Amino acid sequence: MSTHNHPRRIVLRSLLATGCALCMPGLSLAQGGKMSKAQAQYQDQPKGDQKCGNCMHFIAPNSCMVVEGNISSDGWCRLWVKKPVEDPVGKM
Ligand code: SF4
Repeated sequence: MSTHNHPRRIVLRSLLATGCALCMPGLSLAQGGKMSKAQAQYQDQPKGDQKCGNCMHFIAPNSCMVVEGNISSDGWCRLWVKKPVEDPVGKM
């Protein structure tokens, strides 16, 4: 069994990626603690397989934890982080 996609590893990697992105110079957060669409380089189209609908920051139906404004489930930005797959057995 490969440990490469272990759920805990995915979550930790996602949190690290988000933390690094939010600490990048010049990426100050807008009011409300969210980044503007421009800062996040948000687009209304997916980037390959990456889209808001499968990002861990997406809040259905049209919001995001880290980017302000109306967010499409088919959109994308550079803060995209893969939503962890739930463990069907309940073990991590
Ligand atoms: S890709 Fe993720 S972080 Fe970026 S706007 Fe969509 S839900 Fe938010």
